[in-house]
Amino acid sequence: MILVLNSGSSSVKYRVVDLTDPDHNTRGLIEKIGEPGGVADHTAAIGQVLAGLGGVPIDAVGHRIVHGGPRFTRPTLVDDTVLAALHELVPLAPLHNPGGIIGIEAARAALPSVPHVAVFDTAFHATLPPAASTYAIDRDLARRYDIRRFGFHGTSCAYVTGRAAALLGRAPEALNLIVLHLGNGASATAVRGGRSVETSMGLTPLEGLVMGTRSGDLDPAVGGYLHRVAGLDFAAVDDTLQRHAGLLGLAGVNDMRALLERRAAGDPDATLAFEVYCHRIRKYVGAYHAVLGRLDAIVFTAGVGEHSPEVRAAALSGLDGWGIAVDEARNAANEQVISPDGGRVTVCVVPTDEERSIAEQTAALLRA
Ligand code: ADP
Repeated sequence: MILVLNSGSSSVKYRVVDLTDPDHNTRGLIEKIGEPGGVADHTAAIGQVLAGLGGVPIDAVGHRIVHGGPRFTRPTLVDDTVLAALHELVPLAPLHNPGGIIGIEAARAALPSVPHVAVFDTAFHATLPPAASTYAIDRDLARRYDIRRFGFHGTSCAYVTGRAAALLGRAPEALNLIVLHLGNGASATAVRGGRSVETSMGLTPLEGLVMGTRSGDLDPAVGGYLHRVAGLDFAAVDDTLQRHAGLLGLAGVNDMRALLERRAAGDPDATLAFEVYCHRIRKYVGAYHAVLGRLDAIVFTAGVGEHSPEVRAAALSGLDGWGIAVDEARNAANEQVISPDGGRVTVCVVPTDEERSIAEQTAALLRA
């Protein structure tokens, strides 16, 4: 049994994965760590997770870590040296990595005799060619501070790439895909022959598509402009773009279901937010089609991608000339393949399962 931990600064999401039994399903979420009404710290949270498992034998722990920086491009067995290197990466992902690190420390203390493996959200994108990963800024600054496109949602992309290939009955090496991971965070990735060659998130998960509370792409001058005209300091600019932008900024709700309800009721802000969200996706699909040259399939995944026919249809509307179409009935029924028969590009819906993928990667590393 593999325990998969996704630790945030105030929460621990866990799942016990039995790789021989896809239906085994022990999972849960400990929230409000260090807050009133919650447990004191991550050590107490992990203790609560283990107590709840009632003695299930854990063979290994797989930890989700958001940012692997330039160093970690594959699943890595955690030791003190790795942990020290993870601490050094915190400036690259101050919102995401600290929770993961505290989770590893607490879990190693609680389960000192089992291997702990860190699995990185950036790893799948280590194959980005320099032309795609390089920002056109001063090269010395970029080198000194590791400023480049890293990409995120890699575990999800790798998983759905494999599932989509199985669904299409083709080897991943023979397929060119665009993966649209549309959850609270959202990203587009171009996958050529099973390898990520372009992705919309960059140095951090702020870039690219419109998200629940993040702006995605934006003129980089907006920050300086807000500073000059509105007196916002750097922290305030960061806060508004990370937490008060995206669907929330445009329509006052960050949850797509709530947004769709307001749009259905005729709310103009929700209508515009939906259009901005879908327009951005369509723009990326066109761009990534150009990057790939030949496109075999578009894969929708994560909460919005798996469950919103409205978003899928609107995001791919008007692309018939490119061989991209969505069949209305199949889409409404959330079928696995939602393009019409005989289309040049297969459009499919593939549920992601990051925890299972982390467990599989953990087991594979330990076997090797
Ligand atoms: P996370 O990125 O936190 O893992 P998810 O992948 O669960 O998030 O995606 C969450 C998003 O999915 C939310 O915006 C939620 O409203 C949306 N979502 C979930 N179910 C539906 C649905 N039936 N229709 C539209 N959106 C949905």
